[in-house]
Amino acid sequence: KAKRLGKNQYCVYTEEMGTQEVRKMELEKDLQWALEQKQFFLVYQPKWNVKTNSLFGFEALLRWHHPRLGNVSPVEFIPIAEETGLIVPMTLWTLEEACRQCKQWKSQGIDQPVSVNLSVRLFHTDSLTEWVQAILEKVELEPNDLELEITESMVLHDINDIIRQLNSIRKLGVRVSMDDFGTGYSSIGLLDRIPIDALKLDRLFTNDLDTPGKRAIVHAIVLMAENLKLDVIAEGVEHKEHIEFLTQLGCYVMQGYYYAKPMTQEEIGHWIRRQYENVNE
Ligand code: C2E
Ligand code: MG
Ligand code: MG
Ligand code: MG
Repeated sequence: KAKRLGKNQYCVYTEEMGTQEVRKMELEKDLQWALEQKQFFLVYQPKWNVKTNSLFGFEALLRWHHPRLGNVSPVEFIPIAEETGLIVPMTLWTLEEACRQCKQWKSQGIDQPVSVNLSVRLFHTDSLTEWVQAILEKVELEPNDLELEITESMVLHDINDIIRQLNSIRKLGVRVSMDDFGTGYSSIGLLDRIPIDALKLDRLFTNDLDTPGKRAIVHAIVLMAENLKLDVIAEGVEHKEHIEFLTQLGCYVMQGYYYAKPMTQEEIGHWIRRQYENVNE
């Protein structure tokens, strides 16, 4: 059974294929055109400093509006983009778009850095620093307005090469943070070698602070980060008690649904106004 896919392409589906596999094949094929057909957009999630009651920046998160399937989660399409290599042009688009948005906010008096998630494939090109520099120049954005998020698993292979590239990125003045920290293969023993500026505590920690043991672990991470001169940002803050626990443990920067879900550029302006109204009440 073959299904017509447009542009004179056919894709052969066999009876044994599950619906998941069929969906993956369709996404894989459509992802190629998604960039040029402008099906991607970015949403932004604020990071909030509870100590100073002020914004700590935004994380840019990629969204794909598929013409037939509707919104597809990055959890689903990023791995496909990584497999096919499309992640490289997609990330460059994301970087430029996020930098442009940051620049526009600045012109509106919203002076906040933006962070962009990286995939390990970007490091394999050995051109990442050059690309980042070129985008910053093109958009005329200060390097310290940009932050790049990497994950622990990225540094598992070619650690020396990644360290070298991170050093050159940071030399530009761009900051780097370690995303989803504490999940996967923990790189705790490498933290003094990997040149980063911040740790993002995975939301598994944030959502599991009800035992003294769990709190002890997070407390230790926060103290370690302090000694390494790293900022700590807690991900996935959804409830008031998360904030209470985290501040008791010395973590003051939060990101999560409690403050805001990732928002479109239009929603951000309203959200910011509301926050400062609340703070001033
Ligand atoms: P991440 O970088 O760790 O991003 C945080 C994810 O957690 C986002 O999901 C965000 O919407 C979600 N989140 C934030 N606050 C909460 C909360 O309070 N509760 C819960 N349950 N979730 C929360 P999203 O946007 O679906 O992105 C998922 C992952 O996809 C990201 O995880 C990142 O690894 C990847 N991703 C997203 N955009 C990009 C991109 O532009 N490039 C790359 N390479 N990866 C991306
Ligand atoms: Mg991230
Ligand atoms: Mg994360
Ligand atoms: Mg995460």
